[in-house]
Amino acid sequence: MPTLAPFTLHRATSATHAAALLARLPGARIVAGGTDLVPNLRRGIGQPAALVDVSSIADFDAIVRDGDGWRIGAGATLAALASDAALARELPALAQAAASAAGPGHRPVATLGGNLCLDTRCVFYNQSDWWRRSNDYCLKLGGSTCHVAPQGERCHAAFSGDLAPALLVHEAQIEVVGANGARCLPLADLYLDDGARHLALAPDELIVAARIPPQPAGARSGYRKARVRGAMDFPLAGVALRASFADGKLATLRVALSGTNSRPLPLADTDALCGTPVDDALLAALGKRIGKQVSPMRTTVTSSHYRRQVAMVLAQRLLRDLAAER
Ligand SMILES: Cc1cc2nc3c(=O)[nH]c(=O)nc-3n(C[C@H](O)[C@H](O)[C@H](O)COP(=O)(O)OP(=O)(O)OC[C@H]3O[C@@H](n4cnc5c(N)ncnc54)[C@H](O)[C@@H]3O)c2cc1C
Ligand code: SF4
Repeated sequence: MPTLAPFTLHRATSATHAAALLARLPGARIVAGGTDLVPNLRRGIGQPAALVDVSSIADFDAIVRDGDGWRIGAGATLAALASDAALARELPALAQAAASAAGPGHRPVATLGGNLCLDTRCVFYNQSDWWRRSNDYCLKLGGSTCHVAPQGERCHAAFSGDLAPALLVHEAQIEVVGANGARCLPLADLYLDDGARHLALAPDELIVAARIPPQPAGARSGYRKARVRGAMDFPLAGVALRASFADGKLATLRVALSGTNSRPLPLADTDALCGTPVDDALLAALGKRIGKQVSPMRTTVTSSHYRRQVAMVLAQRLLRDLAAER
């Protein structure tokens, strides 16, 4: 892989300091664990003159449980999330997603904030500069045509982070700090449905924490993903699901998906599936809803049709297994 282009590293001492640096240094990028950003920069995907390192901010990695639920700092690592026993009991989908993201060498440094903000992926984009240059680059960076949908005017690169769907089913909000102050928003509002611009953050904003309310009594959740390499890979499709059951019937259901669209996708109209037993008919209806709402494109080496089918089957098996839990 080529060497990195030169940049100046600025170490932020607080979130407001990081936001002030981002405001003062146009084009600067946040670096946390660097496990997504650095490989991309080495491929010539972006050439920021400055990086703002958030890894030294005090308590940026704190994981706290209090009466309001969980507050997880943006600097919390995937390894910390995957190994927290209380978190695994209360937020199984999140713990399972963290344990399945990236590889064992990445997880001790890879962070929640970096995972929520990682770049979208496409087989025509995650390539070396010479590879992309010999294909006239593409609409997302440096070119004028999308090789996946040449007639279209938007990028269909897929959001492939594992934590976002889990946090969506757990009803997370995120805390954001910018040069002009702080705000809190539902996680779903962080994302835009455009592979070339998928984050609704201003250039001077960063994520400081995720807040997760106490989960409803009796709720069960989980996360499943399909990937090319079982030991370490982005999801071809990833499904998080939270459900509760009463009198042998499905009482509540939240589903969110990764790897199929340019944003993590909360499944719509799940209430209509509730009130019936988890049988073949219900599972078929769930699969049909997912098949209609996801829109995988030819952005991976596996076909779009396969990714749609796999998303449906992952969700069906997960719901069936959660219903059978004692
Ligand atoms: C071989 C390999 C396999 C991988 N497999 C997976 C996988 O299966 N699933 C998966 O989800 N990921 C995977 N990843 C990607 C990556 O390791 C994880 O997503 C990781 O959690 C990113 O976190 P980080 O701290 O390293 O982010 P960084 O690389 O530091 O940052 C990623 C992006 O987020 C931005 N950013 C970081 N922190 C903040 C913040 N607090 N506020 C705003 N923006 C921020 C950065 O500017 C950058 O654009 C893989 C990476 C590699 C190299
Ligand atoms: S979907 Fe199209 S524009 Fe987006 S990265 Fe792939 S080829 Fe480029």
